[in-house]
Amino acid sequence: STVYLNGEFVPSDQAKVSVFDRGFLFGDAIYEVVSVIHGGIFDEVPHMERLERSLAKVGMPMPMSQEQFVHTILEVVDRNELDEGVVYMQITRGAGDRTFTYNSLVDAGMTQNIVMFAQHLNLLNAPAIESGLSIKTVPDIRWRRCDIKTVQLLGASLSKTAAAREGYNGIWFVDPDTHMITEGDSNNTFIVQGNTVISPGLHRNVLPGITRNVVKEIVEAAEGLEFEEADFGVDAALAADEAFATSAGLFVTGVTSLDGRPISGSKVGPITKRLRKLYIERALEHLTI
Ligand code: PMP
Repeated sequence: STVYLNGEFVPSDQAKVSVFDRGFLFGDAIYEVVSVIHGGIFDEVPHMERLERSLAKVGMPMPMSQEQFVHTILEVVDRNELDEGVVYMQITRGAGDRTFTYNSLVDAGMTQNIVMFAQHLNLLNAPAIESGLSIKTVPDIRWRRCDIKTVQLLGASLSKTAAAREGYNGIWFVDPDTHMITEGDSNNTFIVQGNTVISPGLHRNVLPGITRNVVKEIVEAAEGLEFEEADFGVDAALAADEAFATSAGLFVTGVTSLDGRPISGSKVGPITKRLRKLYIERALEHLTI
């Protein structure tokens, strides 16, 4: 595959970054993931806005404009002949002497590293769409600024790997203090009660998902549905009519069991199916190619 690295397109085996890069040493980097269907991207503007916000929260500038990012994403899609999948992008603070206190980029002679690559994935017809996901709930061991999209993903990676070895498709984190579900390893969480679609409020333990927000807007515009922001625990999720997860890669995907216990009779619920359909229709109407 072809990787974008600091203004150039290089073969993936030649895309190299310094071992002194702060992304490598400290997890000092921000990332974004934009999905691709039928060779086009959608919701790229909110993704670029979140990228800029994440960078600002860790005191990094945007290394190039939002428009330049979008242009580059489309070039990554094009050069990799990506019809369906995701474009991953990461911006690090750059390489420098290994110190906890970083100087400003200019003082320290550091230059941000910008990397983008493509991943071919089945998004529209992934196997979990029919069956729904089997999710394990685990204590949220991550750091306390999960509202920032940093590459500090070890908590999620360790927890998801352990759950996968037990046969689960994914994990939902539970705040050890409040016992409320925060979010998934890389998705936002929803339950459905009657005609109300509920997702936890946004705070420092939850990434403001772009898909979450789009689904919120779809629910608010949909006939007969209401959106509510409210925290819920495992028992409430098990008692719910339906549950689902959202992300750029999952779109809207049903959750049919939690900790081995069934939700909505182990079937993907009708409101989940309806929202997934509406989400994909909306995406197809807004493709940037
Ligand atoms: N939470 C976390 C921790 C994530 O990594 C992701 C995926 N980026 C999400 C939620 C969903 O966000 P989005 O809908 O923007 O992909």
